[in-house]
Amino acid sequence: MLSCGRVWKGKPTFNLIGVTTMRDANTPISGETRREFFKRTLVATAAIAATDIGPAFDVVADGPPGTPADLPWWRRTMRWAQTNITEIDPTRYDIPWWRRHWKRTQVQGVIINAGGIFAYYPSRFPLHHRAAYLGDRDLYGELARAAHEDGLAVLARMDSNRTHEDFYRAHPDWFAADAAGRPYRAGEFYVTCINSPYYEEFLPDVLREIIERSHPEGFTDNSWSGLGRGSICYCANCAKKFRDRTGQALPRLKNWDDPGYREWIKWNYARRLEIWDLNNHTTRAAGGAGCLWVGMNSGSVTSQCQEFRDYKAICERAEIIMLDHQARSDSLGFQDNGVAGKLIHGLLGWEKLIPESMAMYQQGRPVFRLASKPEPEARLWVLEGFSAGIQPWWHHVGAYHEDRRMYRTIEPLNRWHKDNEARLINREPVATAGIVWSQQNTDFYGRDNPQELVDLPFRGFVNALVRARIPWLPVHADHIDRDATKLAVLVLPNLAAMSENQCESVRRFARRGGGLVITGESSLFNETGAARPDFGLADIVGTHLPAGRTRVDWGARIRRATETSHSYLRLAPELRARVYGPETGAEPAITGERHPILRGFDDTDILPFGGTLEMLDLDAGCVVPATFIPAFPTYPPETAWMAEPSTTIPALIVRMNREGARIVYMPADLDRRFARDNLPDHGALLAQAVRWAAKDELPLVVEGPGFIDCHLYRQAGRQVLHMVNLTNAGTWRAPVHELIPVGPLQVQVKLPDGARGASVLSLVTGRKLASTTENGRVSFVVRSLLDHEVTLIG
Ligand SMILES: [Zn+2]
Repeated sequence: MLSCGRVWKGKPTFNLIGVTTMRDANTPISGETRREFFKRTLVATAAIAATDIGPAFDVVADGPPGTPADLPWWRRTMRWAQTNITEIDPTRYDIPWWRRHWKRTQVQGVIINAGGIFAYYPSRFPLHHRAAYLGDRDLYGELARAAHEDGLAVLARMDSNRTHEDFYRAHPDWFAADAAGRPYRAGEFYVTCINSPYYEEFLPDVLREIIERSHPEGFTDNSWSGLGRGSICYCANCAKKFRDRTGQALPRLKNWDDPGYREWIKWNYARRLEIWDLNNHTTRAAGGAGCLWVGMNSGSVTSQCQEFRDYKAICERAEIIMLDHQARSDSLGFQDNGVAGKLIHGLLGWEKLIPESMAMYQQGRPVFRLASKPEPEARLWVLEGFSAGIQPWWHHVGAYHEDRRMYRTIEPLNRWHKDNEARLINREPVATAGIVWSQQNTDFYGRDNPQELVDLPFRGFVNALVRARIPWLPVHADHIDRDATKLAVLVLPNLAAMSENQCESVRRFARRGGGLVITGESSLFNETGAARPDFGLADIVGTHLPAGRTRVDWGARIRRATETSHSYLRLAPELRARVYGPETGAEPAITGERHPILRGFDDTDILPFGGTLEMLDLDAGCVVPATFIPAFPTYPPETAWMAEPSTTIPALIVRMNREGARIVYMPADLDRRFARDNLPDHGALLAQAVRWAAKDELPLVVEGPGFIDCHLYRQAGRQVLHMVNLTNAGTWRAPVHELIPVGPLQVQVKLPDGARGASVLSLVTGRKLASTTENGRVSFVVRSLLDHEVTLIG
C-alpha cells in the first residue's frame, strides 16, 4: 500500500486505497488509441500514487488553455482549501502534511482562520481572544507564509459577530441588547452590535493588523452581518441611528403590518451593505486595490433574508462570492446546489467565480464534524455544483482526523476539475424557462412563513422541471428585461410581492410573445407587501378578484398553505374546456377538445389537489381546463364521496394574448403541493404547463429512465451539457450510500442557428461519442450514467 504523509503518533496520514470512481486504468477502452490509453493511464497512475501531482494533464483533445497568471486572484483561483482550525490545533497542526494535501488536491487558494472570536496569531489587541492552545505561536502567519511559498492565494478568515465575556465587560455598549437591556448571548459568547464601534473601529484595526503581518490576498468572514432578523437590538447605538435615519423609535415588536417594522427591516439591510463597503474600504486602503473583503454568503435566499444580506446588492459590488452552502437536506435534494449556482451567477454574472465550501465531514442531518461524509453523498453535491458553475472548496473542521477517508473524497474530483476547468467557467446558460424570484417577496410576502409561502412554490417548479429535463434558470424580478430575452417562458411561482416596474417587465415579455406560467397570489401585493385591490397582472392573466370579496387574512393564508384537505381538481368537465365571456353568453359553454395543457391525463377526469380555491372573475377569451372540487371526508370510507362533484371555480386558466403568447394562470397551488407532497400528477401538470407555454420549443431533449439534472451552456463555438444522475435510494433521504447507474439515455441538443454538424466529446471518459445531426439537432446516446456526464458539443 502506498502511503504519503508520515504515519506516526497524532499526525494525519494519507493511505491510499483506491479512487472509487476512477475507471480501471489498466484496460484499454475499445477504440482507444495507444496515445489516449497512455494519457489516461498517466492520469490514473497519478491518482494512485497520490503524491504531488505535476503540471496539467490534458485529457481533452483540444485541452484547456490554462489560467493566465495576470488575472486577479478572484478570477484565477479555481479550487480552494479550508482546514477550519479548532482551538486545540496549534498543538497538532502538521503543516508539511497539509501542504502536500493542498498539492494533491490541486488547490490554488486557502482560507485560513485568522481572527474574530478566536485569534490564531499573537494580536496586539488584548481583547482579541487568543485560541486556548495558541500561546505565542503565530499559526495563522505560518500557514499564510507556507501557502504563499506554494504560490497559493490566501484568504484570512474572520468570524466576527461575537466575543468572549471579557470583551463584553470592557465594552458593554458595543453589544446587542434586548428591550430590557440584557445582552444577546450565543452560548458562552456575547453578540456584538453591528452599529457599534466594534464594527467601525475594532474590526478595521484587526483587519489592518492582519494585512501588515501577512499580506493576505483578501478576507472572508463566516458571520459578518451581525444579529439576525429574529431579534431586535435595542442598544443605544441602534436607537440613535434608527432615529437619525427614520425619525422613529425602534419597533417594539415584530409586526409586519407595522410600517415602522418594515422600515426597520430595510434599515438593517442597508446597514449590512455599509459594513460590506466599510470592510472593503479598510482592506483595500491597507492592502492595496486587490485586497478584497468578500465575507461569506448562503446558498439559500431565505437564509440571506434572516441575516439581512441583500443578495442582489451584494452581487452588484462583489468580484467573487464565497458560498457557504455545504450540504443538502432531504427535501431540497442535490439539485439545490444547481439552483444556488445558477441563482447567484444570475446576479453576479457568469464570468465571475463562486467557490463553495463543501463539507468533507458529515454535514446535514445529523452533523458529525469529525466523521467522513459518505463519499457518494459528498461527490454528488460537488458534481451538482460543477454543473452550475460552482468551484470546489474543500472544508475540514480541525487539522487532525482519525477518520482519514475524508481526505480522499475531493482528490479525483479536483483533478477532473483542473483538467476541464476551461469548460466549466465563462459559459452562457441555455434554457427554456426562467423561474422568477425576488428577495423582497421572501421578506415582505413570506414574512415569518417564507418556507410555505415562497420557497415551496419555487421548489415545486424546480423539481418539476428537473424531472421533466426542461432547462431553466432563476431570473431576478428586477432583471427580466435584461435576462429573459432568450427564454421562451417565465414562471412566477406565487411571486406575490411585485413592484409596478416588475409587473411592467412581465407585460413587456408577454408583448414580445414570451409565454407565462403564473401561480397563486402572484402580483397581488406590492414590493413591500401592501395588498393591491386586484392582481397587478390582472390584465395579463385575464383574471380578477371579485369586487367586494373579503380578503384572506394572513392566518387563513398560512393555514391554507400548510393544510392538505381532501379536495380535487376536475379536468375539463365532460372532457371539454369551458369558455367564459360575452361571445359565449353569460353561462359557461362547452367547447372543443380537452386542452393540450392536460396532455397525459386522458384516462382521468380528476386529479388529487389538497388545497382550497375561491371564485374569480375572468375576462373574455379565458379557457378553464380545470375546476375545483371542494373537500369531502376521507373517513369513514362510506362518507368518501363527492357531495359537490363540480363547481365553476377555476383551478387553471389559459389564454393567448394578441402577440400569440401563451399565458397560464394557475390559482391552484400545485407548485407548493408538488414540493411538499411529491405527487407525480402535480409535477407532470406543472411541466406540461411550461411546455405548452413554450410551444414545445425545447433546446434539449433527454429520453431514458432516471432523475437527471441537466444543465446546458454555450461557450465560444460549442455547447457544454452536464447531466447529473440523482437517481438513488437516497434521493430524498440523505445520505446516499452508493451510486446507481442509469441508462441508456438518448440525448438531442439543438445546435445554434447556422451550425451544420457537431461532434460530441465526453469530458468524463475522454471519448468521442457517435452522433448524428438532423434538422439542426445533434443526437447521441449516453450508454450509462453513474454520477455525471459532461459532453462538449461543437
Ligand atoms: Zn445595537
